Amino acid sequence: MNTQQYNISDNNFEQCLKCTVCTVYCPVVPVNPNYPGPKQAGPDGERLRLKRGEFFDEALKYCLNCKRCEVACPSNVRIGDIIQLARIKYSQKKPSLRDMILANTDIVGTLSSTFAPIVNTTVALKPVKAVMDSVLKIDKHRTFPKYAGQTFVSWFKKNAADKQELYPNHVSFFHGCYINYNYPQLGKDVVKVMNAIGYGVHLLEKEKCCGVALISNGLINQAKKQAHINIESIRKSVNEEKRPVIAASSTCTFTIRDEYPHLLQVENDDVRDSVELATRFIYRLLEEGKVKLKFRDTQPVRVAYHTPCHMEKLGWGYYSIELLRQIPHLDLVVLDSQCCGIGGTYGFKKENYPTSQGIGESLFNQIKAAGVQYVATDCETCKWQIEMSTPYEVKHPISILAEAIDVEGTMKLNK
Ligand code: SF4
Ligand code: SF4
Repeated sequence: MNTQQYNISDNNFEQCLKCTVCTVYCPVVPVNPNYPGPKQAGPDGERLRLKRGEFFDEALKYCLNCKRCEVACPSNVRIGDIIQLARIKYSQKKPSLRDMILANTDIVGTLSSTFAPIVNTTVALKPVKAVMDSVLKIDKHRTFPKYAGQTFVSWFKKNAADKQELYPNHVSFFHGCYINYNYPQLGKDVVKVMNAIGYGVHLLEKEKCCGVALISNGLINQAKKQAHINIESIRKSVNEEKRPVIAASSTCTFTIRDEYPHLLQVENDDVRDSVELATRFIYRLLEEGKVKLKFRDTQPVRVAYHTPCHMEKLGWGYYSIELLRQIPHLDLVVLDSQCCGIGGTYGFKKENYPTSQGIGESLFNQIKAAGVQYVATDCETCKWQIEMSTPYEVKHPISILAEAIDVEGTMKLNK
């Protein structure tokens, strides 16, 4: 059968025009000479790999799955997917102990939250970092996100769950691992803002880590199992309970919407459009005149917005930016869209650390030159990278909104 003529391969590498634009936009290419780049690793390499699998090059591990090549490609080639699928199919390297620790965010998060003060202190100690560096190959320069003593789910069940039925409208909330184990305050801010505009917030029947770290570390069967659990719960929320699903993390949202069918073959056609970021959900309601916001009088503040890579791929940076622009006292500087270099667990790995920081350098310089008080972004790992590499605090747009609104006034407007 002539795949070239009928364009029928599982991925669409035949659509490549050989323009090399993807290579220009790949953030890894300029800082890591060992990486062949998206054109060679993607469509060019795929031609060879389909003939003989041994043409697979382990250097494809240097792709951080940012999808910026896909955003740039004029021919809509799913380059990032081709590379990730090649790694899944052909790589001979088994996940190491380090990879399993980094990928299992639910297990590590549950254990670490239970002993949060001890874990937070221990992993910040220089000798511990040195041991992790030499034994596990987790780079000693990396700062670990702190774990919270109480998970978001535990806080929600004790303090918020029983009030949610009182609201006239309802959503389910995919909180993700970061909010649950590391930063419950962002989840509380989501509940605060949604309640203020008249929406009750509910947990999904079951929620597992979206699986992005499992995918990038080669633990595909586990990622598939978790994806099935998440999609079944989302289906129940959307189809039976009539609740759309919101999330705060651009990467969790992107993974559930696009990586599940493309990389894990977990179909989500029937619910994909009902999963969106809270910033987009709120912005749409404001634009449609269905809700209103009342803001507090506060001091002016200058803030820089960083567009995460997966937000760029979703095409949804606009909604977070426009939502922030509605805050009267906020002067927003939109940074040139560039990868921060962290790539989820990618930047924690010793072999990737120089690449990770090299990629981020120009973004860090932009932030330092912007003359802002803090940075806004929708991705938790971008936050870790920017806070570690610049003197600036990073806040989620929903947290900024939660601080800015007059809750009582907003509730009255939406009664
Ligand atoms: S940008 Fe798209 S069409 Fe151009 S070389 Fe890359 S994959 Fe091919
Ligand atoms: S996904 Fe990102 S790192 Fe990977 S090839 Fe594309 S642009 Fe480069």
